[in-house]
Amino acid sequence: MLLPGFGEEGQRKLLASNALVLGCGALGTVVANMLARAGVGRLVIVDRDFIEITNLQRQVLFDEQDVADAIPKAEAAKRRLARINSQVKVTAIVDDINHSNIEKFATGADVLVDGLDNFETRYLANDCAVKLGLPYVYGGAVGTVGAAFTILPHTTGGDAPWETSDGAGATPCLRCLFDEAPPPGLSPTCDTVGVIGPAVSIVANFQVAETLKILTGNLDRVCPTMLNIDLWTNTIYQLKVGRAYDDGDCLCCKHRKFEFLEGKAGSSAVTLCGRDAVQLTHRQGGGKLDFDDIAARLRHHGAVTANEFMIRAGITHNDKPYELTLFPDGRAIVKGTSEGSVARSVYAKYVGT
Ligand SMILES: [Zn+2]
Repeated sequence: MLLPGFGEEGQRKLLASNALVLGCGALGTVVANMLARAGVGRLVIVDRDFIEITNLQRQVLFDEQDVADAIPKAEAAKRRLARINSQVKVTAIVDDINHSNIEKFATGADVLVDGLDNFETRYLANDCAVKLGLPYVYGGAVGTVGAAFTILPHTTGGDAPWETSDGAGATPCLRCLFDEAPPPGLSPTCDTVGVIGPAVSIVANFQVAETLKILTGNLDRVCPTMLNIDLWTNTIYQLKVGRAYDDGDCLCCKHRKFEFLEGKAGSSAVTLCGRDAVQLTHRQGGGKLDFDDIAARLRHHGAVTANEFMIRAGITHNDKPYELTLFPDGRAIVKGTSEGSVARSVYAKYVGT
């Protein structure tokens, strides 16, 4: 409240606002932690994953007990945040973020904050932000480098608080900056090069600062350039970025074609960053899985653990060991491979299509 440009009014605005945190891994835990401490009144945290021991190096809301208890990340974050600031309302959603649900998650949100680990879902978030006219605070980190950029998208009527009727004030969107996602295998991932905690923390805290500016209405303070930082070579750049919108060739923010949101781009098998694992989702969602039935079947193949959130089974397939984790909605994570085809094969054999 003592900060100029913030004040009691700014604090009240935070209390009345709602931030959607997409992903609750390295970036997302830092973001959620700081937003809750700052007094953002409502946080919606979406994450599909469980906590592993190697996550603790950088995922600041979790501890060894969470790993032992097999608590989903979003739920563990919610429990921790309740002890940090009991007045913040936290909604934990344990689910994959995909084209069929992201708009539902964004309902009522004032800002989308990126805690994601893959570009496909980032393009989906970008589509959603542009379509709904919501700010999207992009962030990413791998190895010793990180990047962040705040997207204040064009809206159809030019009626967003950051935009004038001629489109001035809106920033490039993610597809203005990178038209296509980098092909798999061509960009470094946490799998191949690791990541140091400080790279994540710096990027995430930059995102938090941007989010606080947005939520308190300090839009003139939003950073117009893209942060690029490498903690190993000691370089920090602020890159000027141009709007493809102005040349008329951004599919998303100029032509308002939302390929990822419409399910026309992207796949249903996603290799998980740093996990040697593949997640499978089914575009045509069916009913809930019968956990008892499936657990009984899987026990024939190896050790099975189950709770209300998941079933986990050790499985040998083609003489190779895999760990299969199933969720009530039919989503699966197959650990032991980074190939979608192998994961689909394991799923088809032990769960069925
Ligand atoms: Zn664009």
